[in-house]
Amino acid sequence: MNVNQQPPMASPYGQPQPGYGQPNYAPLGGGYPGPYGPYNGPATAYQPGAPPQGYCTYASFPSKAVAANPVSALSSPLDLGPPLPLSPPPVSTPQAYSQYAQGDIQNGPPSMDHSMAQPAHRPPVSQLYSQGAMNLSGPQPSYPQQYGVQPPMQQVTNQMSGMQIGSGPLTSAGPGYAPPPSSQPPISAAYSAAAPPSYTQAPPPVSGSPSQPPPSHQPRAPAVSQQQSFPPGPPPPAQQPFPNSAPPPQQANHLPPGPIQQPPMQQPPQPGMQGGYPPQQNGAFGQPVGPQTGYAGPQYPGQQNYGAGPAPAPAQKRLDPDSIPSPIQVIEDDRANKSSEPFTTGVKGQTPPLVTTNFQVKDQGNASPRFIRCTAYNMPCTADMAKQSQVPLAAVIKPLAVLPPDETLPYIVDHGEAGPIRCNRCKAYMCPYMQFIEGGRRFQCGFCSCVTEVPPHYFQHLDHTGKRVDCYDRPELSLGSYEFVATVDYCKNNKLPQPPAFVFFIDVSYNAVKSGMVNIVCQELKTLLDYLPRENPEADSVVRVGFVTYNKVLHFYNVKSSLAQPQMMVVSDVSDMFLPLLDGFLVNVNDSRMVIESLLDQIPEMFEDTRETETVFGPVIQAGLEALKAADCAGKLFVFHSSLPIAEAPGKLKNREDKKLVGTDKEKSLFQPQSGFYSNLSKECVAQGCCVDLFLFPNQYVDVATLGVVPVSTGGSVYKYTYFQAETDREQFLNDLRRDVQKPMGFDAVMRVRTSTGIRATDFFGSFFMSNTTDVELAGLDCDKTVTVEFRHDDKLSEDTGALMQCAVLYTSCSGQRRLRVHNMAVNCCSQLADLYRNCETDTIINFISKYAYRNILNTPTKTVRDTMVNQCAQILACYRKNCASPSSAGQLILPECMKLLPVYLNCVLKSDVLQPGADISLDDRAYLRQLLSCMDVSESHIFFYPRLLPLVKLDGGSLPMAVRNSEERLSKGGVYLLETGLHLFLWVGANAQQELLSNIFGTPTFSQIDPNMTSLPELDNPFSQRLREIIDSFRSQRSRYMKLMVVKQEDKAELIFKHYLCEDKSVSGGASYVDFLCHMHKEIRQLLS
Ligand SMILES: [Zn+2]
Repeated sequence: MNVNQQPPMASPYGQPQPGYGQPNYAPLGGGYPGPYGPYNGPATAYQPGAPPQGYCTYASFPSKAVAANPVSALSSPLDLGPPLPLSPPPVSTPQAYSQYAQGDIQNGPPSMDHSMAQPAHRPPVSQLYSQGAMNLSGPQPSYPQQYGVQPPMQQVTNQMSGMQIGSGPLTSAGPGYAPPPSSQPPISAAYSAAAPPSYTQAPPPVSGSPSQPPPSHQPRAPAVSQQQSFPPGPPPPAQQPFPNSAPPPQQANHLPPGPIQQPPMQQPPQPGMQGGYPPQQNGAFGQPVGPQTGYAGPQYPGQQNYGAGPAPAPAQKRLDPDSIPSPIQVIEDDRANKSSEPFTTGVKGQTPPLVTTNFQVKDQGNASPRFIRCTAYNMPCTADMAKQSQVPLAAVIKPLAVLPPDETLPYIVDHGEAGPIRCNRCKAYMCPYMQFIEGGRRFQCGFCSCVTEVPPHYFQHLDHTGKRVDCYDRPELSLGSYEFVATVDYCKNNKLPQPPAFVFFIDVSYNAVKSGMVNIVCQELKTLLDYLPRENPEADSVVRVGFVTYNKVLHFYNVKSSLAQPQMMVVSDVSDMFLPLLDGFLVNVNDSRMVIESLLDQIPEMFEDTRETETVFGPVIQAGLEALKAADCAGKLFVFHSSLPIAEAPGKLKNREDKKLVGTDKEKSLFQPQSGFYSNLSKECVAQGCCVDLFLFPNQYVDVATLGVVPVSTGGSVYKYTYFQAETDREQFLNDLRRDVQKPMGFDAVMRVRTSTGIRATDFFGSFFMSNTTDVELAGLDCDKTVTVEFRHDDKLSEDTGALMQCAVLYTSCSGQRRLRVHNMAVNCCSQLADLYRNCETDTIINFISKYAYRNILNTPTKTVRDTMVNQCAQILACYRKNCASPSSAGQLILPECMKLLPVYLNCVLKSDVLQPGADISLDDRAYLRQLLSCMDVSESHIFFYPRLLPLVKLDGGSLPMAVRNSEERLSKGGVYLLETGLHLFLWVGANAQQELLSNIFGTPTFSQIDPNMTSLPELDNPFSQRLREIIDSFRSQRSRYMKLMVVKQEDKAELIFKHYLCEDKSVSGGASYVDFLCHMHKEIRQLLS
């Protein structure tokens, strides 16, 4: 609990990186905050103003000319212009997928008939990935014979003989296509027409618009899932064979585009693989479950309904879940291949390891993937190509990301009064893409090609290769990420900023007091105030603090150090908020410690017996804004709030919760704010650099969609603790609060993304405000926030030069220094689609697509948004199939190697609570999750959509057990599993879990004695217990929010919540299983191709 109580540690970055010995390149410190470690302010060795060695003093170079105007444009006060026009959805007309009925029939686990027919030898799935196109239907000639040539790139070919869904006669098999078993009728009938009556009768849980015919993918009652029993016997989980047959690294696979003929044997045989391609490899992937024998699969009541179409049940083939692309396999393969070597950023267009892989990054001229991840590292040269492929071109940028301890934080570069060197035309900052010419006297901009004079103080000679001889001594010439000290030109009103302030607003209405929240906040603040952010760990924080309590009136407190007791000032006229005191409101913690402690002791007592239930909210923000204005500084408001603000005041809200609107065309209104009041207030907040973090403790609807407007527009965060109970939720709340108060952040920030000629940043996603089309304004920007940027072509790109982007964030540090953090990124450009498909990052694509969709539900019916996403992904995959894959039967689903998980992840997005809510999810929760996703990085969105499910088998050694796929059929009744969603942790206990296991974890051998209400595990003195608690701690430390632990006993009520996250299964709210969705995608792709 006392994680933050240790004294601030010395910066681990005391030693400059070799090559940057100059004092002015002292590394920016800032410890890697372990979970909630103190923020070790940076720059212990930072010496402002020291000129670079060997240069005459900058004083003689008043190079305003260089660092001129655009700067002030950047930091100019807000122009509340028209909102950024939304670009049209990237996809054309949505297609209803009415033949989706299949998905309703099959539930995740294998059907009974399938399991009966399931034979003994399940070929190791992973073998398939090691080669090119895989043919998966039954016994096949070995690969080389079949195709004779290697397809142009790694492909995952899925022979889905059971998936002949399309219209028209069943075509005869092409090469590699195995005809379906003789008894197999055209399945199209089964899918399109033959939804069994038992399903179609089931009423959808969500009311649809009466004008719409019930599309078959509408949520349906779960006919099967409720009664499912668990598979008998041990599950396949960790024991699943994942031989070392990982695909060769992508880079090894750079084949020329087009239908290049490459003998398959050119590929090095993979470890664990026999030479050649044993026949059983074919047929493993996507093999219709049939000819295998001996697999005693689980039996699921209700499954007999599947196949009720014209096809005789035994012949009804469905895909073997083990034969379709497995997220676990891909994650493990990437780990095996990419975690041992550091990822160096020097090679342009290199796709980084997956976010699930632990790897070290060495900055060699491009920003680390911890700062920037791209959807595509090989951008199409033309807009036509981009449009054809439908692959989104975007970057997910986390400008202030915290780095692991073994990586160097961006260095601070100080060019003194002259400020950073910039291109005269486009104002890009000095970076490795600037080409020095004419003996070093001028440089040509990599972004706009303009030639700019090198100011004399920055001149240096070039070596024989044209490189400056000091290239490796200067971060801005050799690294992807660094910071400049900004001059006064970069400050608001040309005035150096004041240190920021934190103001705490505590709701003291009846509910807030009764839940225990008020007491907990006041107790915690007494210690937490010693851990306010600071840059120099040795020094005190310069952040000033202030305190307000409120219900329907506001109470300001004078905590001036000279007072013996705090003084309260009540403002009961909240219609026109003003600050009743200036002196003594914002104070230094150390100076006023006694008065502050006294206040925090008194607040819970003062309001202990309150009867006031009503609250205001608008005036609270206004008061904070006025306080920061009066102090002429930026800062952050921490608002602890409990209820819908219904008291008479500006920003008063009414309860508009109406679940009947869900699923209708009016659903979007539920995500829009009730009024424009909070949007207008946000603009004022952003102009002042007033960031708002909102901690909600609701017992009922509070309208998160409206209350969240200010936090979301100011770079703040919303935390939500529904039905908060001090006993069980205290730990989660306190850990969130501690982290939130201490985390490294910048204030009053403006971000601009510059690009080289040919592409342009056109759209932005995240928590910020924009008053024009280029500048992202963030009242606050913390280390967890990402800004996602979409790019569009405005001209042709060149394969020779590639495409460049430079993200510059101007911000005020927590010590009040104005800085510019610069991240540079170069990617390749391609004229062949195959190159695009070879260098994509599916996790980032999903991050982008989901943000796009979550934003679009503000303006578009949710169903349209979902259809649009499916259509876009079908187009992406169809374009690949048409242009990059080798010719093969239409019955084959062929997926690009690095996008083979696109269908499974897309399905998870479609099934998410925001886009396809279950009956039990509140509108507030949906609004909350919608806002939360908008600033998630790729690692967070990955686990949010595809949680991590760990079987707790052997926990010896330092490594984690291998995860299993998120499906009920992977759970063993005899096991215990840990599920991490990024927001929650679940410990699922099978009804037949071994006694020893239970004793080790819970201290009791009896299942029935386990208390499902525990939120932390008992600290038992055995290695298993210790290791499990270590794992839980380490998971928590990796996430920006504390994950509360929930123990779920099999067949308890709470299991429904847990099952909700088993995202490969059909969901209670009607979301398709992975298998069914893959079939559906296949059909969509075929339609596009026909
Ligand atoms: Zn330029």
